Amino acid sequence: MSKRVILAGGGHAHLAVLADWALNPLPDSDRWLVSSSSHTAYSGMLPGWLAGHYRAEELMIDLEPMAARAGAKLIVTDAIGIDTRRNILTLASGQDIAFDLLSLATGGEADVAALAALGDRVLPIRPVPGFMAGWTSFLETQSSAASISVAIVGGGAAGVEIALAVASALDRRPGTARVALVTPQDGFLAGHSPRVRKAALAQLAGRGVEVHFARATGREGALWLSNGAALNVDCVIAATGSRAPAWLASSGLACTPSGFVAVGADMRSTSHPAIFAAGDIIERVDRRLERSGVHAVKAGPVLAANLRAAISGTKPSRYQPRRRTLYLLALGNRRAILSWGGFMAIGRWVWRLKDWIDRRFVARHSPHPGTRTAGTLLPLTVADGTAVDSDAQGR
Ligand SMILES: Cc1cc2nc3c(=O)[nH]c(=O)nc-3n(C[C@H](O)[C@H](O)[C@H](O)COP(=O)(O)OP(=O)(O)OC[C@H]3O[C@@H](n4cnc5c(N)ncnc54)[C@H](O)[C@@H]3O)c2cc1C
Repeated sequence: MSKRVILAGGGHAHLAVLADWALNPLPDSDRWLVSSSSHTAYSGMLPGWLAGHYRAEELMIDLEPMAARAGAKLIVTDAIGIDTRRNILTLASGQDIAFDLLSLATGGEADVAALAALGDRVLPIRPVPGFMAGWTSFLETQSSAASISVAIVGGGAAGVEIALAVASALDRRPGTARVALVTPQDGFLAGHSPRVRKAALAQLAGRGVEVHFARATGREGALWLSNGAALNVDCVIAATGSRAPAWLASSGLACTPSGFVAVGADMRSTSHPAIFAAGDIIERVDRRLERSGVHAVKAGPVLAANLRAAISGTKPSRYQPRRRTLYLLALGNRRAILSWGGFMAIGRWVWRLKDWIDRRFVARHSPHPGTRTAGTLLPLTVADGTAVDSDAQGR
């Protein structure tokens, strides 16, 4: 009998599953893809978009042709709940869909609670299409301002890359700009070597980005730092890491103390064997795994193999990451830092390597590789109705 397999989330972790289904159709199955947006933004290229190196369309992966090739029905809406007793996924569109197998990869949610008092001055980096629309509109509203002040809160790789990209973007407009990065000292490029942190600090200083080692809270119309200083800012970009989606808590699915889906090395829920999960929404129970696109992408083929194994009743595979992960951090000026364990390199060639890897990734998931042309407008549907002009640039 045909089994219904639903993928919830069309991001980094599920791209390999769709590619696998396109190459080798999943037998005896009725396949669905539920995603809050018709396009997935490749996050590694977002700083390059902000810095003006890429057009929006160059980092967008269109899920419609991917789903079509995978023989999956695409529904653009949010998953908002799971009834784990009856195996039913509830959608924001009002539908309840029964499943035999469910794979969750809807990513994490931006954690902006400490900044919420600043209202619409806060721009979370997730979801990426919403960030792109928000930044474009911020620049438009500030087009005649003599000076702009932007703070980036969060000192992980994304926060550092975005701070440098924003500095580049604001350098190109008339008037003065103040860019600040606020991060607790122990959160600044945590997990990277001291050499990488030192090189990144030198880049930030050289580009005039103020670095404040502090925690930030939004109140009384300003960004207050734990060292007592206050920053008056026009825009606060929240790169504060992700928290688990709230709807998971009521699903009955085993979650870790921080609320993420608990999975083993086979990417299967520890409580519900019909449910798999990968990417930023999980925490492994057998080991610590950073939340990163690298792990989301690399777990994808294992997830694909295990959905297949669950249907055929064969032995599942395990996702065992390598001991060291390669990270390439864009510096906003067509240079980048390579970070690999204790090894560090910096320069234009690192950027070229990153650019090649990133473009190749997006091209591999495009309907007609090699046919992306500058100036093509993509219609971008987002479940909450946000419109994103794909030709807009972060300049
Ligand atoms: C600015 C930025 C830069 C980054 N740079 C890097 C980098 O250089 N290297 C790196 O390794 N990592 C990087 N990351 C981290 C990386 O993007 C994530 O770890 C990765 O995207 C996680 O993949 P995922 O599949 O879990 O989620 P995502 O890729 O975020 O995909 C989630 C998908 O689910 C959809 N969705 C969300 N909610 C719902 C819902 N309720 N129902 C249905 N669909 C939903 C979304 O539309 C999206 O399609 C960066 C992140 C950011 C924000």
